[in-house]
Amino acid sequence: MRPILDPLLLTPGPLTTTLRTKQAMLHDWGSWDSAFNRITGELCSQLLGIAGGGDSHVCVPLQGSGTFAVEAALGTLVPRDGKVLVPNQGAYCARILRILGVLGRAAVDLPTPEDQAIDPAAIDAALAADAAITHVAVVHCETGTGVLNPLAEIARVTAARGRALIIDAMSSFGALPVDARTLPFDALIAASGKCLEGVPGMGFAIVRRQAMQASAGNCHSLALDLHDQWAYLERTTQWRFTPPTHVVVALAEALAQYFEEGGCGARGERYAANCSRLVQGMRGLGLRPLLAPQVQAPIIVTFHAPAHPAWNFQAFYEGVRERGFILYPGKLTRIETFRIGCIGALTPHDMDQVVAAIGATLRDMGVLPRA
Ligand SMILES: *Cc1c(COP(=O)(O)O)cnc(C)c1O
Repeated sequence: MRPILDPLLLTPGPLTTTLRTKQAMLHDWGSWDSAFNRITGELCSQLLGIAGGGDSHVCVPLQGSGTFAVEAALGTLVPRDGKVLVPNQGAYCARILRILGVLGRAAVDLPTPEDQAIDPAAIDAALAADAAITHVAVVHCETGTGVLNPLAEIARVTAARGRALIIDAMSSFGALPVDARTLPFDALIAASGKCLEGVPGMGFAIVRRQAMQASAGNCHSLALDLHDQWAYLERTTQWRFTPPTHVVVALAEALAQYFEEGGCGARGERYAANCSRLVQGMRGLGLRPLLAPQVQAPIIVTFHAPAHPAWNFQAFYEGVRERGFILYPGKLTRIETFRIGCIGALTPHDMDQVVAAIGATLRDMGVLPRA
């Protein structure tokens, strides 16, 4: 059940959450309290389970938005003399490169067209050409466009070359399967407020235990030292520094609903149904998605803006907002686009409603003929 007053967020984080998840935040928790620390412990083992990591991996939560966890994982797991290959196809890949630059870690930028999936053969060739590369950092679903990358193939070529893989699975984890037993990685990073449908405020990394153990002293930062956070949690069962208590209990409640829904398979199917209903409805209005269906992840869809003189994103955004839906601008530099998320506590029926709101707005704007 959803409260009726909030607009629906068609944005892939923050996103629309259920009433049950929101109600979980109506209590105050002490960070020293064993009941709260038990919730943290259970949460971490459930997250580990979703990733298929048993004793081989650990789950480390971290305060902050997803980027904090990405920066923490890169700063902790890549040694100061490490070198990271980054296939660069969009905004979140570019953010990884920017983080590495700020941290003073060497990086290799491997340009990839933004409307195409990363080519594992290009990664293989780049690794063959440069023996100094120690890590590959990839984005599973590039949320800037919605491209889905072939993660299993990328993991295979990276492991075959003896390099470590760091995965930004922020916008896919929980809806698109990843299994640490068959897909080798050193770290996978995600957050509370994406496909797990919690509220934003906490990231986490699933890290190969040996890589975590070997990373002591690498990090440039105290607050973002994932090794220190892990060691402290192991020793005390408590978070190092004040935990985002309400975010943690909301995520625990969101996870209970996740398992009730049927876990990763069911969540991925609902999002795929949302995505195809959305694309179909938008095509009916004459609006085309940027990506070919083979590379489209069921997470967020980028649409070409209508080629009409009356088009204006701000007016469009406000018209759709007045009708109860919040959309995203595009993140592409060369072509004008806008984005609609398929994730959150939403169903195909909600996608019909958003398409109707978009149609009405475009008719009001004069972009589409009045009925
Ligand atoms: C949401 C997201 C992040 C984290 O962004 P924040 O603004 O820090 O939450 C990182 N990578 C990807 C692919 C994302 O979708």
